[in-house]
Amino acid sequence: MLPIKTADIVIIGAGVMGASIAYHLALRGVRDIVILEKEEFVGQGATGRCAGGVRYQFGTEINIRLSIESLRMLGCFKDETGQDINYRKCGYLFVLTNQRDVTVFKQNVELQRKLGVQTEWLSGDEVRRRLPLMRFEDALGGTYNHEDGLVDPNSVVSGYISAAQRKGVKLLNGVEATGIRVSGGKVSGVETTQGSIDTSLILNAAGPWSAQVGQMAGVSIPVQPLRRQIFTTTPMPEIPPDFPFIIDFANSLYFHREGEGLLIGMSNQNETPGFDQNVDEEFELINLEAAIARMPLVEKARRASHWAGLYEITPDAHPIFGRTPVDGFLVVAGFSGHGFMHGPISGKLMAELILDGRFSSVDVSMLDLARFHEGRLIQEFNVV
Ligand SMILES: Cc1cc2nc3c(=O)[nH]c(=O)nc-3n(C[C@H](O)[C@H](O)[C@H](O)COP(=O)(O)OP(=O)(O)OC[C@H]3O[C@@H](n4cnc5c(N)ncnc54)[C@H](O)[C@@H]3O)c2cc1C
Repeated sequence: MLPIKTADIVIIGAGVMGASIAYHLALRGVRDIVILEKEEFVGQGATGRCAGGVRYQFGTEINIRLSIESLRMLGCFKDETGQDINYRKCGYLFVLTNQRDVTVFKQNVELQRKLGVQTEWLSGDEVRRRLPLMRFEDALGGTYNHEDGLVDPNSVVSGYISAAQRKGVKLLNGVEATGIRVSGGKVSGVETTQGSIDTSLILNAAGPWSAQVGQMAGVSIPVQPLRRQIFTTTPMPEIPPDFPFIIDFANSLYFHREGEGLLIGMSNQNETPGFDQNVDEEFELINLEAAIARMPLVEKARRASHWAGLYEITPDAHPIFGRTPVDGFLVVAGFSGHGFMHGPISGKLMAELILDGRFSSVDVSMLDLARFHEGRLIQEFNVV
């Protein structure tokens, strides 16, 4: 049975979102917080399976603003929490091979620069000059930002969780939320696999599972789980230490340095929503062939590891922040494949909403749950 019977705030999910919310609430003096995590360890959901990429390069103002704040927070993460997160500013290089993408990315670069993000526009020849190990004869152009890079996801989760625990937050691993008690339109408690906790405030930070958690409170949350997979290679000495995070945008194919080898992923456009987290070996072969076509060197390496995880997709590829029709039931989910990098600022924003009644660091009020039935969708083009 649970050692805890009541809490001021219960957070469901210990991925980057739950961890960041707990830390930022604790930082502002809230101590009576319980985090429920169904797995035995934290960060086993999307966060621990992600590619670790952090970038400023987005196509909507709100995503760029979230990145500006979040990447600044990641930059001082170690000083703030004591946890090293292995932040490597290797840059992201998007390679564009069709005219439509060139047009949209030129607009994106303009928007990014207007907001103070110094992304460079590259010609097709410049892309080929910078990537001598790759075959991009068809590149029409590209974008590069040297401040984009990589961060270790597990270190971010454990850094936030440990810092929150030092401030008194309680973490219950291996405890699954199974029901949410609502009376008179208000939250009154949560049922779990090990008993119930009375509370008047629940945060749904369940990532790909957030629609299921929403259903427990009778709230419809339009987040769909979608499998995405990755493999890593054995050491490839030819890859220089400053090799950027490369994205062949039209093919949703990406490469970045991982240890002495590469991490390679590709989005399967035929994937259907579901919770399957097994690697699709057939698609892995398609991914491998596409990777070899772009980088023949990959053929010489062997697979070191592979895994699959779940994106948490919303209809407009933007996250959902804030209140729901049930009083005391809040949601922060649906980051549509780029939520790791936005975890730090999202936790801070949710703490602001809870304690101040409004978002002040970045105005994300337009990313509310109500936008879906009120027809206020905001499309992001720059999704990999
Ligand atoms: C292959 C892949 C590559 C990616 N690459 C990147 C990238 O390069 N950069 C980037 O920014 N993002 C990337 N993402 C997306 C990123 O991983 C997610 O957007 C982000 O991690 C979401 O964090 P979260 O905390 O909302 O969800 P999660 O990390 O999934 O956390 C939710 C937690 O809730 C728990 N939970 C669920 N239901 C319950 C319940 N009923 N009771 C208790 N606990 C529950 C789960 O076990 C889980 O630990 C990638 C994702 C995948 C799958």
